[in-house]
Amino acid sequence: MTAGGFEFATAGRIMAGTGRAAELPGVLAELGSRVLVCTGANPDRHAGLLAGLGLPAAVFTVPGEPTVELARAGVAAAREHGADVVAAIGGGSVIDVGKAVAMLLGNGGDPLDYLEVIGSGRAIIQPAAPCVAVPTTAGTGAEVTANAVLAAPAHGLKASLRSPLMIPRVALVDPRLAVSCPPPVTASSGLDALTQCLEPFVSVRATPLTDALAREGLRRAAAGLRAAYADGADLAAREDMAMCALLGGMALANAKLGAVHGLAGVIGGTADVPHGIACAALLAPVIEANVRALRSGPPGALALDRYAEAAGLLTGNPGASIEDGLAWIRQTLTLLTVPGLAAFGLEPGQARDVAAKAARSSSMRGNPVALRHDDLEAVLLQAL
Ligand SMILES: [Zn+2]
Repeated sequence: MTAGGFEFATAGRIMAGTGRAAELPGVLAELGSRVLVCTGANPDRHAGLLAGLGLPAAVFTVPGEPTVELARAGVAAAREHGADVVAAIGGGSVIDVGKAVAMLLGNGGDPLDYLEVIGSGRAIIQPAAPCVAVPTTAGTGAEVTANAVLAAPAHGLKASLRSPLMIPRVALVDPRLAVSCPPPVTASSGLDALTQCLEPFVSVRATPLTDALAREGLRRAAAGLRAAYADGADLAAREDMAMCALLGGMALANAKLGAVHGLAGVIGGTADVPHGIACAALLAPVIEANVRALRSGPPGALALDRYAEAAGLLTGNPGASIEDGLAWIRQTLTLLTVPGLAAFGLEPGQARDVAAKAARSSSMRGNPVALRHDDLEAVLLQAL
């Protein structure tokens, strides 16, 4: 925490609990009169929810990774329908598109006017149209974050639209919606959620509020991750993971991330790797590199205590060492059959370029210690 104190922004309203998706029609009726529903490639998965929305609805399908083009098409669909509220029912990709559409409805213009890095980066100053985010996976925490990641294939890059005005008006989190999530998605989204609690916990931007969220999120990941993978119908485990994702989203939106996300962001733009799998493969090598760098620096680094505390929360043993925590993470990856990055075509020869791009990413600025180019390259080679 800096001498200047801290800021904390979050959704207008978070409604969480098993069965609460049934409240969606009431929420929408409070916010608008015509709704654009963004949903995944298979809307039938949530047919019950889509059938009873109450308002005249148009459905916009998000078949894969969010792109600039998809955001444009979503805005066009919303305007054609006369939508004044957006409901995003799906995983992180769907929610990011919903947030981008809601922002553009409120601010006008094109995604490239506002995109960081590859666009003009114009400030978002008008409120977004009301957006209700209904996550159906437990991972990104996009229901409570302030950005939407869009790919721009022409640039070979991903970049964010970002503003506190983009935080969804309502996050409606119903763990039951994740019960139909297949095991590989439970694994990749859950490992993303875990990473998004750990990185803010050791971040140089951590605050007392994000610490409290991250601690509880790590506790929930320890309780729910392996169990939700082993039995998708285990509602208690689904609840733990829904909370882990929600807490991680709030923590990262206010304390930033670290080298895992710095590298994963670049890898996501380079190869077709699910985001959570990239995070999972990088997690242990990044912790090891950070711990090595912290131990060789000035004594008393707070992040070392944090890594040890996280190890205690994950293993359930308060006396656990950082190495015990690493062993728990590696064991979890084995149990969840998480592949290395080589399985997605990433080759050793790409490590140099990925490391160089990652060093410039915004996530890297939250990392508890500055890693050298050689360290980043070694981390990538270990994650293959
Ligand atoms: Zn993530």
